[in-house]
Amino acid sequence: MAEECSVAVGVRIRPFNDRERALNAQLCVEVDGPTTILQTPPEQAEAGKNKEPKKFTFDASFWSHDGFEVDAKGYCCPAPGSRYADQQLVFDTFGRRILDSAWEGYHCCLFAYGQTGAGKSYSMVGYGANKGIVPISCEEIFKRIGANTDANLTYEVMVSMVEIYNEQVQDLLVPPRERPKKGLEIRESQQLGIYIAGVSRRAVDSYPSIEAVVEEGTENRTVGSTLMNATSSRAHTVLTIEFKQVSQAAGQQGQKLSLINLVDLAGSEKAGQTGASGDRLKEGCAINKSLSALGNVIEKLADKAMGKAKANAVVPYRDSKLTRLLQNALGGSSKTVMICAISPASSNYEETLSTLRYADRAK
Ligand code: ADP
Repeated sequence: MAEECSVAVGVRIRPFNDRERALNAQLCVEVDGPTTILQTPPEQAEAGKNKEPKKFTFDASFWSHDGFEVDAKGYCCPAPGSRYADQQLVFDTFGRRILDSAWEGYHCCLFAYGQTGAGKSYSMVGYGANKGIVPISCEEIFKRIGANTDANLTYEVMVSMVEIYNEQVQDLLVPPRERPKKGLEIRESQQLGIYIAGVSRRAVDSYPSIEAVVEEGTENRTVGSTLMNATSSRAHTVLTIEFKQVSQAAGQQGQKLSLINLVDLAGSEKAGQTGASGDRLKEGCAINKSLSALGNVIEKLADKAMGKAKANAVVPYRDSKLTRLLQNALGGSSKTVMICAISPASSNYEETLSTLRYADRAK
């Protein structure tokens, strides 16, 4: 029997940024329902590339605005009266299904993938009052807990936050100076499954308490500057919410544990393209290794689910720290969501195409 696995994929296109406007970049992305269409820019077509538009159909494609118009310069802008594909819509489409499956007792993962500056952090964390999937999910968890009227049912929520940088797992809830030099080890036991030895786990009992832990972890992140985006993180950030439901009801004593993993991946751009050398190049290689391992794992799981690969085919979890760490929550009955963030501009055509191809492998 094919392994039951659910991978949902969404694409989110951000508006043009100032840099793209300054470069006079043209729009090369269109959205038609759940389909994202990538037009071949004239310079690519002239270089002998296939001119046909490339169509990719996912579970959802979010334009920055549901209805949009293209102005005289080719920039996309919202059509009058159109609905903004806002954070809440993205959460309602994908975040909610993650929480629903956690309530049923399944592990889950939600990733944001894409080149630096494409909108991963915007989707995951958001900026200021414009909250992304992480804060909305945290709020929703405690809203649901608060709405529970069953006196026999209690909840325990624990949070940990790590980053994977150069294939090392670093505890973000420990200040950088106090961390072991080589990072933490990923181990496996019969009882716990895959776990990070010695990682900090904080008990939280309200939205403000979880928000404070996430803020602390965010401040401890490794920030590397590349020419492409001075403040972009070159590490994968993994927030894990351990969500336990404990039932004391007569005849139903027991507990359900689910791990909710919310992952802001490092930029997917090729190392060479950002003018990287030395340490930055090494980072680029490590990032590519774990992103390609993640792609291979998700593709294999999707193939198994559709019967394209044998049920007992080996899933290559061990090929990177990222996939090893998330092994518990990928495959089996777990739910996986991948949100791919892309730019609308022809100047990013190659990266956008590679992001859409990556996403397409998950289907
Ligand atoms: P990444 O995390 O992929 O490097 P960011 O999330 O930091 O990229 O996004 C880069 C810039 O684009 C930010 O200034 C952000 O506010 C803006 N942005 C990204 N996605 C959207 C969106 N869907 N709507 C509006 N602005 C966005």
